[in-house]
Amino acid sequence: MTVTEPTTVPDTVTALDAARADLRARLLRDGVLVDIGSPGLYGRTGVFERVYGAVDAAAVRSQADLDAEVLRFPPVEPLAAFERTDYIASFPDLAAAVSGFAGDNRDHRALLAARERGERWESFLEPADLMLTPAVCHPLYGLLSGDLPVGGRTFDVLGDSFRREPSLDPMRLQAFHMHEFVHVGTAASARAHRDGRIASIRDTLESFGLEIDVVPANDPFFGRVGQVLARSQVEQSLKYEFVTPVYGPDHPATAIGSANLHEDHFGSAFAIRSADGEVAHSACVAFGLERVTIALFAAHGTDPDRWPAGVRAALAL
Ligand code: AMP
Ligand code: ZN
Repeated sequence: MTVTEPTTVPDTVTALDAARADLRARLLRDGVLVDIGSPGLYGRTGVFERVYGAVDAAAVRSQADLDAEVLRFPPVEPLAAFERTDYIASFPDLAAAVSGFAGDNRDHRALLAARERGERWESFLEPADLMLTPAVCHPLYGLLSGDLPVGGRTFDVLGDSFRREPSLDPMRLQAFHMHEFVHVGTAASARAHRDGRIASIRDTLESFGLEIDVVPANDPFFGRVGQVLARSQVEQSLKYEFVTPVYGPDHPATAIGSANLHEDHFGSAFAIRSADGEVAHSACVAFGLERVTIALFAAHGTDPDRWPAGVRAALAL
């Protein structure tokens, strides 16, 4: 019988946790982020915003040749649209809903009495038919039902994303932003968009002085069925991630961007047809803006004025 020493895994986990705690402490101590009392939620200071703005502007410059149509959405989406994305089937643990008070005076008195007793009062709120948007391209597809023009359409979508994954890893936030470049068209044009953007995104992130790998990846599908979905996503090369070793070469690298092929998932859910009469296919590439920003602070320090000249030039800082 072989006895396996149970040392390596726990040690690695502990070292990674320590590295995460270190980075978090440094960002808070040096006044980059502000702790607002809940894991994965932070206030952001001037120095954070300066770098974040520069990252976003550079991301936009890198995709300017797409001449994408600009669209912005609120951080919440109607339940009916959320429903059609099937997100709740795949990621129930990450989803979050908005609720509101819809009661009368009696209900209000009961809420206040519970609050007075120091009890939780959220159970007095009711579902408001609104979900927090988990992926910023989701609200787009509902606008495209019907026929697309020849060549499809390409969009620039920046927005809030909420995922219920509280963590003390400063790279894993609950509320963050993605800048996405989304194409909806034929199977061929969607794939060409996804594949064609990888080089410019990689070059852009590398110009920031970050070490980048592009690797096949899967989304964190929930449960046992989810494991099958995740495996098939990798086997079919539907998702690539731009990863960087924020916590050094001994720990897994973190995704700061992604390039995704949805095939006809959204086309069929939202009844979108490409000009050739087929169900539309879609693809999106995403810059995770906070993750790129924090990866920069981790790689170059918390004072951007002391970053290498080439990095500052690439960011126009
Ligand atoms: P995804 O749709 O999961 O590929 O997410 C797109 C990008 O958003 C990822 O590559 C990350 O850069 C960023 N992202 C995803 N989840 C988080 C999170 N919990 N905190 C911060 N950024 C995230
Ligand atoms: Zn997307």
